[in-house]
Amino acid sequence: MPGKLYLCATPIGNLGDITYRCVETLRSVDLIAAEDTRRTVTLLNYLNIEKPLVSYHDHNRREKGGFLIEKLKNGENIALVSDAGTPAISDPGEDLVVLCAENGIETVPVPGPVAAINGLIVSGLPTGRFAFEGFLSVNRRSRSELLEKLKTEERTIIFHEAPHKLMNTLNDLLKALGNRRIALCRELTKIHEEVFRTDLEGAIARYAETPPKGEFVLVVEGRPAAEAAEEERAKWDGMTVETHVQMYVDAGMSEKEAIRAAANDRGVSKRDIYNIIKV
Ligand code: SAM
Repeated sequence: MPGKLYLCATPIGNLGDITYRCVETLRSVDLIAAEDTRRTVTLLNYLNIEKPLVSYHDHNRREKGGFLIEKLKNGENIALVSDAGTPAISDPGEDLVVLCAENGIETVPVPGPVAAINGLIVSGLPTGRFAFEGFLSVNRRSRSELLEKLKTEERTIIFHEAPHKLMNTLNDLLKALGNRRIALCRELTKIHEEVFRTDLEGAIARYAETPPKGEFVLVVEGRPAAEAAEEERAKWDGMTVETHVQMYVDAGMSEKEAIRAAANDRGVSKRDIYNIIKV
């Protein structure tokens, strides 16, 4: 029988955040695949666990992926541990899960800390709907294409960012999205944990004075409803009421339905539309 791959979430700072189940799993598996073996050794020493370790990271994921799949096929149980947090979130664990799926190997989540989710919950921004974007691409073209798409994103948007790229990212966000609210969540669960709730201009002003340090989760407000409504109104302002109603008639609506739809778009009454088109 093949073994199983356990996706073990580990602390993003505070070692006390390890779960009982994660400890039990790390104790019971045959092998631990770790993104950063030195960091995992520190964790295993803290937990008094000795296990064979195999490194599995961005640069060896192809060869090591095949190696780990063979081990799993031979019945070994493997725990996958990322640098910190939950494997497969912005790390090569994603690829190993795909390989397991292709090879009929069971994958088991062992849940725990995720930096992005912890940033979101303390951000003070809406948490009901959100879009996780991970790290913004450093490729200029794909970065600006994505930022262009995000202009109309209404959900709260979460990014990962490294301190040396923070200012550049804040400036790009300001340019693309306008001055939105942002929570900069730094060093979560660590001694210097900080949640700075401000707007993009405020964040730029602060980090221009004090260079950023530590790991960041950026939580950015989605497009404000008022901005969307304003844009919608501007769209109809450039079209006559007659053309607007005709657009819906051409799309198959009755005149009555078209008047209702146009009134709705423009935030006016059906009577107002009727009075204009019947003049
Ligand atoms: N798999 C991880 C998880 O579940 O959180 C994310 C891995 S990603 C390669 C690393 C990024 O997560 C960092 O660059 C930073 O943006 C964010 N991060 C990790 N630990 C953090 C912490 N303690 N505080 C704030 N952000 C953190």
